Amino acid sequence: MEMRLKHGLRPRPNIGLGGVAPDSVAANGQVRASASRPSVMQAPVLVLNATFEPINVTAVRRALVLMLKGVAQAEETNHTEVHSTQKAIQVPSVIRLLSYRHIPQQSRALSRKNILLRDRNTCQFCARAFPASELTLDHVMPRSRGGRSTWENLVACCYTCNNRKGDRTPEEAGIKLQRRPRPFTLHTSRQLMRLIGHRDEKWRKYLFY
Ligand SMILES: [Zn+2]
Repeated sequence: MEMRLKHGLRPRPNIGLGGVAPDSVAANGQVRASASRPSVMQAPVLVLNATFEPINVTAVRRALVLMLKGVAQAEETNHTEVHSTQKAIQVPSVIRLLSYRHIPQQSRALSRKNILLRDRNTCQFCARAFPASELTLDHVMPRSRGGRSTWENLVACCYTCNNRKGDRTPEEAGIKLQRRPRPFTLHTSRQLMRLIGHRDEKWRKYLFY
């Protein structure tokens, strides 16, 4: 049964989003964003463990699914609403898992996405920032020379630098590696969370800055 809410299908006045069509959340937990404001669904949400320890950053879309599944609850919201056929939901800014999840140290999967995140979408040779689509991964010690695909040997790299370096080490190619690549640690993660959340005051008390 459809529940009529005071605010109907109109989003509440909010910050900087304008009075455009609301996003929708289907009863089965599928979340659909209206084309006019995809940014709302992609906005970052801080994920806390049941113990309030920050463990991850996800997108609004994923956070809503976790809430609808009863896996997480909102701790902070941002005064925007999305609507399902059942109810209006405040868009979360911080969510907390309802049951404790053991997070091993350095549990971050080695993936292109995480390498780019660690290197902040910045080419580790020319130090310029690029959109993810304009970056590739470079094996600092080339694979052909026994270089492995590890956190310590993979860096974000723009195509220009990648071509220039070719099958050589940075020393041989005469280009400088900006900093030694390291695995994701809790410290790195927390720094990244602060960076990602720097515009959201509500993240501060969970990240202690
Ligand atoms: Zn570069």
